[in-house]
Amino acid sequence: MSVSSFSQYDDTILALATAPGVGAIAVLRLSGKDAIAISNQVFYGKDLTQQKGYTLHFGTIKDEEKVIDEVLISLFRGPKSFTGEDVIEISTHGSPYIVREVMRLLLHKGARLAKAGEFTQRAFLNGRFDLAQAEAVADLIAADSDMAHKAAMHQMRGGFSQEIAQLREELIHFASMIELELDFSEEDVEFASRDQLKALIEQLLVAIRSLASSFALGNVIKKGVSTVIAGKPNAGKSTLLNALLNEEKAIVSEMEGTTRDFIEDTINIEGISFRFTDTAGLRDTTDVVEAMGVARTKSKMKEASVILYMADLKRITIDQLQTEVIELNNLQLPILLIGNKSDLLSDQERLVWQQSFPAMLFISASNKIGLDELKTKLLETIEKDKISGSDTIVTNERHYHQLRQTEKSLVAVITGLDNGISNDFLAMDIRQSLHHLGEITGSITTEDLLDNIFSKFCIGK
Ligand code: GDP
Repeated sequence: MSVSSFSQYDDTILALATAPGVGAIAVLRLSGKDAIAISNQVFYGKDLTQQKGYTLHFGTIKDEEKVIDEVLISLFRGPKSFTGEDVIEISTHGSPYIVREVMRLLLHKGARLAKAGEFTQRAFLNGRFDLAQAEAVADLIAADSDMAHKAAMHQMRGGFSQEIAQLREELIHFASMIELELDFSEEDVEFASRDQLKALIEQLLVAIRSLASSFALGNVIKKGVSTVIAGKPNAGKSTLLNALLNEEKAIVSEMEGTTRDFIEDTINIEGISFRFTDTAGLRDTTDVVEAMGVARTKSKMKEASVILYMADLKRITIDQLQTEVIELNNLQLPILLIGNKSDLLSDQERLVWQQSFPAMLFISASNKIGLDELKTKLLETIEKDKISGSDTIVTNERHYHQLRQTEKSLVAVITGLDNGISNDFLAMDIRQSLHHLGEITGSITTEDLLDNIFSKFCIGK
């Protein structure tokens, strides 16, 4: 059978595709024009070079006469494979020794070790999918919540790219019309209606801005919502964290100052990861709001997407809490005010608190009362409901940056149109927008950009 010719590469790469260490099985992957021939040199059972794509083969891997393992080989012929090249996946028994030996043999027969992300990079460069989709592969592997998984899957299947590509097509049409006008500059012709162009740009801006604004949620989905629990010592912060986590990770004690450092843990609420940080470590000063001034807390707070501020309603006065709330508001972050130890309040006391702080949520951390309401409030702070299930959510910082750049250049086009700038400048501004859009999907790339993106993948991907 003929050697594949759909790839721009000459060499064949090899990596362990499964996690290193002992396991039931380990999968080694080879991709490249000699993937099948190289494997065939160490595989005994069948002549792999004579097999069709999408087939499975049982046999042994031998080093001369020594049997290294009994294996199962999946054979893919390009261009119908992940990378677009011939691909071999060897499933061995999951022993690090066997993996090492098989790799050594394959390297000896002519494969070379793959770099991080090189399989996906080849897939991209061989036209299997665009850049945004390739990046989604990394996100998919890293996704650890329902929402993160959904967003990555949507992007990998091309949802995000299609939207961008279509907008770009329309703009390309106008760019070429205006460039055509440049060729006829002596005659006073207008191939591209300025009104239509402006309408298209405005439509583009709406789409771009909505994509860009989805990043606030996208980022949260990908990285989790950084949630800081703050409040005076003994307010019940660790107890709340424990109750939410349902396990005893933080140390709860009657003595003040037992929580020495930040405690971070993640809980999943309706598919969104909330990363909780208990700032209880900072209690050198008796005034915790003041202690927020301490550099580390401050930086934690700045990173935070939401702050849960807890008050022990038995130990604080209305005036004190009011002062603290005013200071908290200076942080300009969403704050959930939580009145803890509500189990100790009389109905009368509770009413008084309620009147002074209508937004306060009454809970009892130790009795696990009010926790569901707390979770609902937390979800509200990230405005998840604003985005419907089918909407594209931008989760990638690079895309967000490019979208903002595109927005800027589109605004420049509009300004240019309004000010009646000359066609060559107009064409330049449009080209600029096209460039930024192209960088998202990879229609326009530089080697640096690719290296940067794919080096963040793991080896074997
Ligand atoms: P932190 O310093 O803010 O982390 O406070 P802790 O979580 O260590 O709690 C301080 C004390 O308050 C502990 O003895 C807890 O058992 C107690 N506590 C926490 N929540 C409640 C509650 O809802 N009701 C009552 N009665 N006690 C609570």
